[in-house]
Amino acid sequence: ILPLEITDLRKTYRGGTVEAVKGMSFTVKPGEIFGLLGPNGAGKTTIISTITTLEKPSSGTVKVFGVDVAKDPMFTKRQIGVVHQEIINSGFFDVEEILTFHSGYYGLRNNKERIHFLLEKLSLYEHRHKKVKQLSGGMKRRLMIAKALVHNPKLLLLDEPTAGVDIRLREDLWKFVQELRNEGMSILLTTHYLEEAQQLCDRVGIINLGSLVVLGDTKAIIREY
Ligand code: ADP
Ligand code: ADP
Repeated sequence: ILPLEITDLRKTYRGGTVEAVKGMSFTVKPGEIFGLLGPNGAGKTTIISTITTLEKPSSGTVKVFGVDVAKDPMFTKRQIGVVHQEIINSGFFDVEEILTFHSGYYGLRNNKERIHFLLEKLSLYEHRHKKVKQLSGGMKRRLMIAKALVHNPKLLLLDEPTAGVDIRLREDLWKFVQELRNEGMSILLTTHYLEEAQQLCDRVGIINLGSLVVLGDTKAIIREY
């Protein structure tokens, strides 16, 4: 079963006047990192939003592990973890509380072991009692990833995970994403950095103005472009 299968996806906004995604099809295979590479406005975030059911497709289907997300959004939400571009800036809760609170969203009331595992893995354990505003940019990014992983999802969606991040932190994040893939997670990431697609992705789809321009093995595609 494919972690993600998108078929003829179209999405328009403002009564059809804005065509954000114009009939797109692609899959994410088990255990691969698939990249959607494209400039701002290409439709990357819209695609992520239809997978998470935040936006409803205008037509076409999105299936996660064989199930149409429109028909069973709760199933979908349990299978996927999402790292959005925006960083939460909760002034009230500390790092550990945020992860505990987010676990509750999935009905996980006894998730301390998983949370501590993720805190260790993402080098956040010693910062677990800090509020978000006391964290560095890198720590905030890592917290967003930990938050996406509390329920042990099988498909991870990363929306421009390293936008506006310095090169050292970017390389740390790349290493971490590769570790997740090596542990068997399937990953969809969006990026506008050619180098990021080149370093990380097994396959890549290049998109522009809502259409898939080319799709294939990263090495073959980068050679052509
Ligand atoms: P409206 O026509 O009232 O802006 P929309 O349905 O078009 O309503 O927009 C819904 C939400 O999407 C709004 O909160 C708006 O801020 C946001 N939005 C609108 N245009 C864009 C855009 N070009 N890119 C990203 N988000 C947008
Ligand atoms: P990307 O993530 O690649 O930058 P988006 O999916 O955010 O692309 O946007 C694709 C297109 O759809 C853009 O032209 C954007 O302005 C438009 N768009 C995105 N969200 C909305 C919205 N809520 N309302 C109206 N237009 C939108």
